[in-house]
Amino acid sequence: MSGTEAEERSGDFIRDIIRADLDAGRAGSVVTRFPPEPNGYLHIGHAKSICLNFGVAEEFGGRCHLRFDDTNPTREEHEFIASIQDDVRWLGFDWGDHLYFASDNFETLYGWAEHLISEAKAYVDDLSQDEIRKHRGTLTEPGRNSPYRERAVEKNLDLFRRMRAGEFADGARVLRAKIDMASGNINLRDPVIYRILHAEHPRTGNAWCIYPTYDFAHGQSDAIEGVTHSLCTLEFEDHRPLYDWLIDNLPVPARPRQYEFARLNLFYTVLSKRILTGLVAGGQVGGWDDPRMPTISGLRRRGVPAAAIRDFVKRIGISKSDNTVEVALLDHCIREGLNKTAERRLGVLRPLKVVIENYDEGAEEELDAINNPEDAAAGTRTVPFSREIYIERDDFMEDPPKKFFRLAPGREVRLRYAYFITCTDVIKDDAGVVTELRCTYDPATRGGNAPDGRKVRGTLHWVSAAHGVEAEVRLFDHLFTRPDPGAEGDIVDDINPESLTVLKRCRLEPALADARPGETLQFERQGYFCLDPDSSPDKLVFNRTVALRDSWAKIKAKGAGKG
Ligand code: ATP
Ligand code: MG
Repeated sequence: MSGTEAEERSGDFIRDIIRADLDAGRAGSVVTRFPPEPNGYLHIGHAKSICLNFGVAEEFGGRCHLRFDDTNPTREEHEFIASIQDDVRWLGFDWGDHLYFASDNFETLYGWAEHLISEAKAYVDDLSQDEIRKHRGTLTEPGRNSPYRERAVEKNLDLFRRMRAGEFADGARVLRAKIDMASGNINLRDPVIYRILHAEHPRTGNAWCIYPTYDFAHGQSDAIEGVTHSLCTLEFEDHRPLYDWLIDNLPVPARPRQYEFARLNLFYTVLSKRILTGLVAGGQVGGWDDPRMPTISGLRRRGVPAAAIRDFVKRIGISKSDNTVEVALLDHCIREGLNKTAERRLGVLRPLKVVIENYDEGAEEELDAINNPEDAAAGTRTVPFSREIYIERDDFMEDPPKKFFRLAPGREVRLRYAYFITCTDVIKDDAGVVTELRCTYDPATRGGNAPDGRKVRGTLHWVSAAHGVEAEVRLFDHLFTRPDPGAEGDIVDDINPESLTVLKRCRLEPALADARPGETLQFERQGYFCLDPDSSPDKLVFNRTVALRDSWAKIKAKGAGKG
């Protein structure tokens, strides 16, 4: 095998394990699962897990299940179940017929709990939650046995059945696995496997008032579904001995194995459903799909293509050590994908009026514009031009510094796809703010090139005043001001007050009135944008997905640095 072949074949340690298991015949085929708890919307961290689980299943000719880990009825909702399915599909993955719910296994799990009791491997404990915690010990001290630990099997069975029958209040009793209160692994110190909770479940309604814990439901659901490789994040590493203990001590139909990989962390971003739920509930964001949210639905609304998220996940790779990824990498993946696919349009975000004095009043013409220089098949369109246009306010400076190549008094620049224009006059209001520019154009430069070969250094985008459509454009910045939000104090205090900028009365070329939802376009020289669902027939709203890199900003920053 050549070096590159070896690299291609290896991929990451999870894929190495799976390949070795298949080669050695330890697994006939690969079955994985993505197991969200339906207590919130999916975020980009989940995308890592989704791409891994569905990705390896696809690569090794196996299958991946979507399983809702719905064992905590108090926080789970139908809205989340629906959104999670939408998001996984949108990301490009398909679970086929393999949609499961841990709650479908409640009866089986209950039977297995009785099985453990019968084998004297589980007992009903009457200690309160608080007392259980006090008995648990610490990392350096062993735990202490509960006074109820040696209850007779018959008594335990009776109490457990009465727990199920609803005879006891929430928290009055729990069922614990009887493992080892002195274990070095706290997860093995008689973990709780059932608790009483008189709460309606989104799927099983009021059928149950006792619910299995995550640890008791997860591995057993894996076994029931025939999952071979149960891939989860590193915080579950310490749970693996319990995972294995339960599989070893229950009459499960298969023997899944758990493997852990590092979760995704992103600077300036929070990937905790608990905190994201708080932001939604507290109104700090407009909802789960606010384009500033790291949720799949937020990214989608911002105009990020699913392919860019998959590309991002591929580039960060799978490893066994925690690290934090730069947001710039995600932005890079988004730009790179969109550069190839997005059609170009002209849009002026902060309009400054330009009157072309030698262009006939009332005249207009259609100029050819290229839809995508990266994709000839995208073809061309026409853009209307007339005597009054808008250009970007930033593209004019009355007294420009050396490296500013755009419009200035007396200077000639190119209007993209149109003509060379020269600024002849600057009109200001009483406060000295520039309100309008007067220019002349050279009719011989139609299309944007001079027949005499003379060059200009700046090319500007523009929109015809009479033809352009008005729109609101929303620009986004990091939701948090700190790379590590919440690291010192209340996370709400770290919210970036400038994370959303709303620009009213932007001017866009008329073709943008027909932009389709879900389609991301490049506004030349500005970035990538997509139509927001807040749009209506009489109000266009666009979101900026990501800016283009601004070379001027860099030059400016360098200049400032030099003092
Ligand atoms: P919580 O915020 O309540 O701890 P969670 O983010 O772990 O929840 P789950 O619904 O339990 O959410 O996650 C489903 C799967 O996604 C799990 O296998 C989990 O390990 C994985 N996952 C969650 N967050 C990340 C992340 N940041 N990076 C990679 N995988 C993740
Ligand atoms: Mg979780």
